[in-house]
Amino acid sequence: MTKIQMTTPLVEMDGDEMTRVLWDWIKQILILPYVDLKTEYYDLGLSNREATADRVTVDAANAIKRHGVGVKCATITPNAQRVSEYNLSQMWKSPNGTIRAILDGTVFRAPILVQGITPYVPTWTQPITIARHAYGDIYKDVEAYVPQGGNAKLVVQDRDGAREIEIFDFSKTGGVVMGMHNTDGSIASFARSCFNYALDVRQDVWFAAKDTISKTYDHRFKDIFAQIYADEYAERFGAAGIEYFYTLIDDAVARVVKSNGGMIWACKNYDGDVMSDMVATAFGSLAMMTSVLVSPDGKYEYEAAHGTVTRHYYKYRDGGTTSTNPIATIFAWSGALRKRGELDDNAQLRAFADRLEQATLRTVEQGDMTGDLACIFRSDVPARKLETRAFLQAIATRL
Ligand code: NAP
Ligand code: MG
Repeated sequence: MTKIQMTTPLVEMDGDEMTRVLWDWIKQILILPYVDLKTEYYDLGLSNREATADRVTVDAANAIKRHGVGVKCATITPNAQRVSEYNLSQMWKSPNGTIRAILDGTVFRAPILVQGITPYVPTWTQPITIARHAYGDIYKDVEAYVPQGGNAKLVVQDRDGAREIEIFDFSKTGGVVMGMHNTDGSIASFARSCFNYALDVRQDVWFAAKDTISKTYDHRFKDIFAQIYADEYAERFGAAGIEYFYTLIDDAVARVVKSNGGMIWACKNYDGDVMSDMVATAFGSLAMMTSVLVSPDGKYEYEAAHGTVTRHYYKYRDGGTTSTNPIATIFAWSGALRKRGELDDNAQLRAFADRLEQATLRTVEQGDMTGDLACIFRSDVPARKLETRAFLQAIATRL
């Protein structure tokens, strides 16, 4: 069989633990037999981040800027325990945080719906896409512990001079402070990404923050969204029969649960982190959530929304077999290959991405799946729980 050719490389970012194992198997079993894969490879595994003083993460992000499309494996964000486990010289920052800071943009997360897996919320008949602002707030903050007797002030230097705002007087007790920021430019491109995506898929946009409490910070987000919507999008939304509205984050949570889904829920960085895990789990499994970072200048980075599945990895490393779900990682690859196909006008590559996704969904619908899905599968056909490699082989058979 002649393999499908590629003209431009994908930026391939390898990662850690169980997802690093899945990464290799997916390539060997589902991609390399059919595609003459061209990638520019970056090893973002924690050992190589240590060896390169995290230079490799910055290089990978810049490569996405050059080539336009990347696909990323899940990676460890080190904490104190990882520093000793991997003998690290520093607690390196989250690679996703670094890449998002370089590319800016918005992360769109949507669940993969498959017959037989019903959402925990029975009214959710359509997918809910979380649009997560990928820049700033606590992901780019500075923090300090202030011992008792200290005092913390915010100093803002601008063209009118310096302003000092007291944060807290710690004279009676020690405590913690944090300084965070966002920029008008990044908030504006977040708004435009959401509105453009909504016009593409013809879905409403809900945006929620906490402007009643955060009267300057969150209010700025609300105002920028409102202004850009009124100036640039209101008419087109009207013509497309879709709407935009703003509400408070707690109200949005209540309304989403009672909705039928089918909307884009724009969230600030932290809200999007939290809500996307809730939405993914409620749609069936954390392992069924796709994630794509879209930068304002149209660069794409595809990944799975879940982590490196550490618990499964330790079992695998100790010689056991695991039933880890590879679907979100497969969809990261298919998403990236399809986008590459679109940009390079490569119809064969686009068709391959479609077939790979169809074969994956059909495998589950016909009863072959991993353990996380087998225990929630409801259908006329019985569910067979397969270990990961056998599941990948079952997909390859249909592909
Ligand atoms: P996780 O890797 O997403 O796993 C949490 C639990 O969810 C797993 O123990 C497993 O439950 C279930 N799960 C997640 N993905 C699954 C899959 N594909 N198939 C089957 N079950 C799945 O999150 P974590 O344990 O909090 O984090 C582990 C590491 O991943 C951390 O070092 C963290 O820094 C990193 N992380 C990376 C990213 C990223 O790169 N995008 C995102 C999040 C976390 P059971 O154990 O009950 O089977
Ligand atoms: Mg998260």
